[in-house]
Amino acid sequence: VLLAGIFFMDARQQRQMYNENVELLVKSRAAAEAKAQFVSVVNHELRTPLTSISGSLSLLRGGAVGSLEAPARKLVEIAYSNCSRLAALINDLLDLDKIEAGRVTIERRKCDLTALVREAIQANATYAVNEQVSLIETDIAEDVHVNGDPGRLMQVLNNLLSNAAKYSDHGGEVHVSLRRHGDKARIEVRDFGLGIPEEYQTRIFDKFQQVDSSDHRARGGTGLGLCIAKGIVESHGGRLGLQSEVSKGSLFTVELDLEDVNAPEQIRAEDTR
Ligand code: ADP
Repeated sequence: VLLAGIFFMDARQQRQMYNENVELLVKSRAAAEAKAQFVSVVNHELRTPLTSISGSLSLLRGGAVGSLEAPARKLVEIAYSNCSRLAALINDLLDLDKIEAGRVTIERRKCDLTALVREAIQANATYAVNEQVSLIETDIAEDVHVNGDPGRLMQVLNNLLSNAAKYSDHGGEVHVSLRRHGDKARIEVRDFGLGIPEEYQTRIFDKFQQVDSSDHRARGGTGLGLCIAKGIVESHGGRLGLQSEVSKGSLFTVELDLEDVNAPEQIRAEDTR
């Protein structure tokens, strides 16, 4: 009787476990379908009209329909800059989805990292000036090449440089360097601003993580940039590192394998799955 009881109980437990697993599977499949549908809506239903709004605003800004009075011009500028913010958010959400699914496409080619770092500094100079911060090249080695996707690596640099400026004090400096370290190229972005508390130093590389996530925080942002940057660097087989101390500043480092100078040049799209 006892054995039969144990057998009976085991069978019931097994059935219950089986049912729970089926339920979980159905739920996770439903969640995956809902997510895929959400991504597709974001991609088509938000991106397409946004592109059209931003196109129209560009024409207005460029004076294609006559010059605007100053107050109207100001309103168009505000609308255009918010359009750009929305577009950036949509792109981040789509990138995040690709990274999470291991589907980020990296188009590798011989890539001049020296030129790319200089270009990124220039591209972020205006933003830095607006934040009253100076972006300074401290030591940029010449002719550093990696096998990478210039567009994606630019995205990483833009994130690190704009963050460094955003989280610096007015009048502060951001130091950018590129050096060879053995068989690696090492980019350093150092700021002397807020710094990041130790308990956040791993977390901020996760999606939607911000040290200050309150609604009244002074600086905008979504908390997606570093998560995407890490995904991109790791898709290149590289490493994104951080050292930081509160009130002293932060040092973000990107390490990538140096291009093998003897390797034949080739362009290949890589699915990192
Ligand atoms: P966002 O800047 O849009 O919030 P990120 O993913 O780029 O998102 O960064 C996540 C968080 O990490 C930021 O909200 C901020 O709290 C912190 N952070 C990133 N870079 C720095 C930095 N250079 N100095 C201080 N804090 C930083």
